Amino acid sequence: MNQWKVLHATIPKIHQTTAEGNTADSKTPFMGMKQFSVFAWAKTHPKDKRFLNDWNNHFWPKLNNCKNKSDARHVVDTEMFQPLLRRNPKLINCLHDDLKEAIVTFSFKPNNLQSDKPTLGLGPLAFVPRERKEIEMMSQQLALIEAATNNYTTDHEKVKLGRPKIPTNVDGYNSVIEACKDVNDFLFTDRCDFVFLLRASLLALYENYHAYEHMEYFGRTIGAELLFQLTRAAEQLFGTATSEQQLLDGILPSLDFDFLINGIRNNNLNTSQSRPALFIPAPKTARIQPQTPSPRGDRNRDRGGGGNNRGGNTPSPPKTGNNSVSRKLPDGMHKLLSEWKKNNNKSRLPSIHDFRTASALADDEALQSLLNLNKSTCIRYALFGSCRSNCKRDHPSDITGFNATAAETVLRKGLPE
Ligand SMILES: [Zn+2]
Repeated sequence: MNQWKVLHATIPKIHQTTAEGNTADSKTPFMGMKQFSVFAWAKTHPKDKRFLNDWNNHFWPKLNNCKNKSDARHVVDTEMFQPLLRRNPKLINCLHDDLKEAIVTFSFKPNNLQSDKPTLGLGPLAFVPRERKEIEMMSQQLALIEAATNNYTTDHEKVKLGRPKIPTNVDGYNSVIEACKDVNDFLFTDRCDFVFLLRASLLALYENYHAYEHMEYFGRTIGAELLFQLTRAAEQLFGTATSEQQLLDGILPSLDFDFLINGIRNNNLNTSQSRPALFIPAPKTARIQPQTPSPRGDRNRDRGGGGNNRGGNTPSPPKTGNNSVSRKLPDGMHKLLSEWKKNNNKSRLPSIHDFRTASALADDEALQSLLNLNKSTCIRYALFGSCRSNCKRDHPSDITGFNATAAETVLRKGLPE
């Protein structure tokens, strides 16, 4: 708190002559009604606000005391960015003016993702590391405009950072999600549902690291979907405002993204149709052709840990060798799968999700119960006859009570003509 007093004395007074002069003299708290939402996102009852204040050294009250955006920027700098950097210097490439503007304008919800200058809010895309050059250019522009107009309310849209460069390998994704978690954790504590989800995603990624580490298409498949779903979570949470009464009544927004964690853990994350292009990394070379299956050959080795959308799911002994576990499928199923692959010249089966949809099954559990599987038994293994050896689900050599007739129907319905 002492630090805060010192800081307060150093806040520049330029704002009094700015366009925000109106608000400078008013007694309205800087955060207005937003403070209730902040409590709600942090799952903190107002009576328990000490918890939140202890967590980030009274960051929110400090922000709330600001008279205008110029004060607020200073508070974000000294009371948020600096302590975060002391904890984790790697955040240097994420803690820039763009993020600062998101905080002082309370633009936490990702928005406008199809545009050239999307609003990234506090979603994962905001934490894709930027190049020093890009950050400095934006800051210089911002400073120039402000100096020229003596106006701190200048349309920030004009000088926003452009689209982020999406990482291509799993390590890049880990860093982005980790930075996103650290910053949201600072602001909303580890009680926040979004922080919870980010941490669970990281854990699942680390758990399945061996499957994802060498996956050539990680960024275009699992990675893109992961960022998209985490962005949806941020949209959902930060798009929900909470009133004082709702807060007192304990009506708080929450997130339910268990499917995402399970999808990462089991390497069967499905691809959303509505995903904007923003989430897909730019191809590095012409060698990567997303729509064309790569030629058979030594590249199969790299694709062994493959996602649900890709090859290597042959029901007979798989080509991927020691990376897979397989079982002998009942004859009817084996015949269906191998003939489909032969006739369609494909090694790539539809995803479990596609099969589920074709059979009008609501979720994995419905499919499991139809096939008479235990909850812990791997569906891919049961239905396709093979899975990755590091999949965390059960792969029993004999699945007792397996409903092969139902499985055949599911396969028949789900295999496209
Ligand atoms: Zn499995």
